[in-house]
Amino acid sequence: MPELPEVEVVRRGLQSSILDRRIERAEVRESRLRWPVPANLTDCLRGERVLAIERRGKYLLLRFAGGTLIVHLGMSGSLRFMPRPPPPVRHDHVDLVFEHGVLRYHDPRRFGAMLWHRGEAGPPESHPLLVRLGVEPFSPQFGGEHLFRATRGSRVAIKQLLLAGTAVVGVGNIYASESLFRARIRPSTPVHRLGRARCDRLAVAILATLSDAIERGGSSLRDFVGSDGSSGYFQLDCQVYGRAGQPCRVCGTAVRTRRDQQRATYWCPRCQRG
Ligand SMILES: [Zn+2]
Repeated sequence: MPELPEVEVVRRGLQSSILDRRIERAEVRESRLRWPVPANLTDCLRGERVLAIERRGKYLLLRFAGGTLIVHLGMSGSLRFMPRPPPPVRHDHVDLVFEHGVLRYHDPRRFGAMLWHRGEAGPPESHPLLVRLGVEPFSPQFGGEHLFRATRGSRVAIKQLLLAGTAVVGVGNIYASESLFRARIRPSTPVHRLGRARCDRLAVAILATLSDAIERGGSSLRDFVGSDGSSGYFQLDCQVYGRAGQPCRVCGTAVRTRRDQQRATYWCPRCQRG
């Protein structure tokens, strides 16, 4: 599943290919994504110029004068810009046809989304899908103090809190395990036990982990293709994730794993004592 770093990598890729370019039309071959692609997408986008490409959580926001196209890659979606597009193949659901090429949305599992938010409806951040998202990790609002405040009055495990996305967006399963290892906090620790110092450490660890992943071009995903069509994204050099039974790279103790709700958690029992 594309995580925040992958989506950020796609966003940066799109900046170089479609920013300030004009759309001629949209071709929707399959509108049944997670929510229906608007039937009038071409009417919304015809002649519109891409004014900005932003990201909120794992949503890409393509801003136009008349509104914003909100795109989510779901479990298996990809966006690919092609100056000379080949004929569409299976799962190539939507083409945005520009004057200089095609931005093609491909999504075998169809859990993604492509929605139009009219300018008159207010800022896209007020859209129901976006309005309740936690703070952006790279925004000035995020840090140890924010995590400390967000974790008072709750006894949920810190890893669950991170995955919920209500305190901070973008810390998916791989990045939660890796960030908690960096911060030397056991994933099962109830959040009310985290003092300010550990919240500070965790905030720093989250930023470092996400930054590393963005630098490496995103990490997860077999079927992930970058916006320019380059595949073969670098594997994140994981410290604990996916390394059950292997020696911790810091202390040599065997990395442990546990599955909760279909998600695997990895930690070092020695480096992450509580
Ligand atoms: Zn260790």
